[in-house]
Amino acid sequence: MPKKISILTTSEDSIANFCKDNSYPTFHAKQIKEWIFKKYAVSFDEMTNLPSAFRTLLDEHYYIHDCSIEKIDEDKNNTKKLLISLYDNKKIESVILSKNERTTFCLSSQVGCRFKCSFCATGSMGFGRNMSADEILAQFLLMRSITKKVTSIVFMGMGEPLDNTKHLFKAIELINSFKGFNLGIRHITISTAGEIVGIKQLIDRGIDSRLSVSLHSLKDDVRDKLMPINKKYPLDDLIKMLKKYSQTGKRMITFEWVLIDSVNDSVNDAYRLVNLKKEFPFKVNVISLNETPFAKNLKAPSKDKVIRFKSILHDNGIAVIERYKQGQSISAGCGQLVVKE
Ligand code: SAH
Repeated sequence: MPKKISILTTSEDSIANFCKDNSYPTFHAKQIKEWIFKKYAVSFDEMTNLPSAFRTLLDEHYYIHDCSIEKIDEDKNNTKKLLISLYDNKKIESVILSKNERTTFCLSSQVGCRFKCSFCATGSMGFGRNMSADEILAQFLLMRSITKKVTSIVFMGMGEPLDNTKHLFKAIELINSFKGFNLGIRHITISTAGEIVGIKQLIDRGIDSRLSVSLHSLKDDVRDKLMPINKKYPLDDLIKMLKKYSQTGKRMITFEWVLIDSVNDSVNDAYRLVNLKKEFPFKVNVISLNETPFAKNLKAPSKDKVIRFKSILHDNGIAVIERYKQGQSISAGCGQLVVKE
């Protein structure tokens, strides 16, 4: 028997050919795509308007998802953390965040991460591998199958999305497209540690999702220690690329700033950000560090320091939001995702 292939990333035309080759009407191709992308079917059995023998045939040739939810942790605020096992038994985590009317999916794009930011638990896993486009889509589909709605997605789970652009862009195209999951591009956020080559690709390909950049410091010596990627792409180069990105008329960049006590929470740190306003407009999301056992020396600052940092930005005309803390009790907060083999 041939190796099964992903139906999520197979075009409607190829599925129509498959129907024809097996003497079934080609309109089934459209029905199959609708079952998956509009009704979030996770198995061929659910496709009740297809002949049963055809469903069996489909199941022999294709898979909808080649991964499974192994565990769901839930906190009292309805945050759900999913442990997903991939075809090769590698594991990733994904988080569903609900607040008021909004439901955000926090998606992973890689197994582990190669960038080893000192404050992030995922880095301690090392790098496993890239997730394929169909795995990223299957992750979305599995999340969608247990949650009635989704208002936005953020690639802030495991991995560096811009280190896996080939699969990321393909997945985003199918999450966004009218015939796909049809989620508006402005509801899709890519978060990067500062992968300059990937940012350039966003410019060159005209991808209009939102861009968050995990900045965390505007001093190279501090950023080198927090985020080793800074040694490869120092701040000057990153800022130059972001300026270019801004000038192409893209949506306003958001900087992520994880406040770490006595590392990047000073008055001067805040003013360095204010100074950057001369280059291009941006917003800032601050979040006080989610402490992890992987970086015992790094602590969250006091509330007063967080307020001081935010006030300086705000008083100098920068839109600043403090990221709502959610999921800490089940280790589903930013930087807490980790799976140990
Ligand atoms: N590699 C991407 C996406 C994954 S991290 C990136 O670096 O942006 C997603 C967000 O969580 C980033 O803004 C990151 O800086 C933040 N984060 C990581 N560890 C954290 C921690 N311990 N506490 C709070 N936020 C953290």
